Amino acid sequence: MKRETPLPYCLPWIGEEEIQEMIDTLKSGWLSIGPKVKKFEDLLTEYTGAKYAVALNSCTSALHLSLVASGIGKGDEVITSPFTFASTANVIIHVGAKPVFADIEQDTFNISPEKIEEAVTKKTKAIIPVHYAGHPCNMTAVGKIAQEKDLTVIEDAAHAIGAEYENKKIGSLSDATCFSFYATKNMTTGEGGAVTTDSEELANKLRRLRLHGMDRDAWKRYSMKGSWYYEISECGYKENMTDMQASLGIHQIKKLDNFISIRRKYAEIYNKELGKCNDLVTQCEKPNVKHSYYLYPILLKTYDRGKFIEQMRKIGISCSVHFVPLHLQPFYRKTFGFKRGDFPITELVSDREVSLPLYPKMLEKDVWDVVHAVEEILNVSSNP
Ligand SMILES: *Cc1c(COP(=O)(O)O)cnc(C)c1O
Repeated sequence: MKRETPLPYCLPWIGEEEIQEMIDTLKSGWLSIGPKVKKFEDLLTEYTGAKYAVALNSCTSALHLSLVASGIGKGDEVITSPFTFASTANVIIHVGAKPVFADIEQDTFNISPEKIEEAVTKKTKAIIPVHYAGHPCNMTAVGKIAQEKDLTVIEDAAHAIGAEYENKKIGSLSDATCFSFYATKNMTTGEGGAVTTDSEELANKLRRLRLHGMDRDAWKRYSMKGSWYYEISECGYKENMTDMQASLGIHQIKKLDNFISIRRKYAEIYNKELGKCNDLVTQCEKPNVKHSYYLYPILLKTYDRGKFIEQMRKIGISCSVHFVPLHLQPFYRKTFGFKRGDFPITELVSDREVSLPLYPKMLEKDVWDVVHAVEEILNVSSNP
């Protein structure tokens, strides 16, 4: 088969509301952190059910400041999954701590609680579970380990806004939850991120840290209510969100449930149709979670991945790979001495993984094209 028009791997869905809001912001003269960031934060707390939300310039910053605000630094160890994007572990190194990887589960592709327990040492201070593809981790088990060992839990929920764990939205299950609003994510502000938390103390710390350690937000300082006086109470960073980014977020978050229901409808077609293919494995959805389907990963049992992606491209369908595991990246090998064989399940999954297109801008017809293309390619493989 061959598509008439190529199907991109991913496209954001920006509507007229976002465009009008952006124009309004540009005309208002308030481009940096201001009233729209505040409004977006209010919508985030309302959506997730968390008490506080602090909007930042990325999820990387959200993870970074959560570690700083939790007092994690030199000599500490932080446990996370090797099956993730670079930022999850890079930020651990940025604060001076050591990333310690725990292997994943074979059905959810999420960090394994048993492996976390094995990795805990006297130096362990925190766990960063990653909700891979939008399937929540086993937060009951993670929470239990954290409580027993007195560890902070910071969720990498870059894929998981709108996902649910035991009927509760991701966002208030642990000490801090970090979201991404990068261009490809389930909702976008172009670039952006946020931390949600139920701790007022943590939220206040994050608000200071995102603006140089200043004791109040700049927008309050320059508003009529504020004063010219400010104090630097600690050595902070510059990782705030802007009103331009929040202009998109304010409307994207209102559309999020609809986006996710379309993702779930398409994922159901993939699950049903691709589930019949003997040559591939799909990710499970555990009964106590609601998957947000940021990604639709398949594992090719025998077919060559490079060849598969190339054949899909020739048909007119772009695919992607999530992720090349961190422990096999040159920097991590060189710095920590990791080698192939260290995390066998991560390697088994990451060696065979292909992410199929899945986003609300696709039409149902596109989804069927993907199904038929996968079937065509894999059938060829069984009858060479
Ligand atoms: C996208 C992503 C991030 C980083 O998000 P940014 O907002 O781009 O910083 C972190 N973790 C995971 C798992 C991601 O996929």
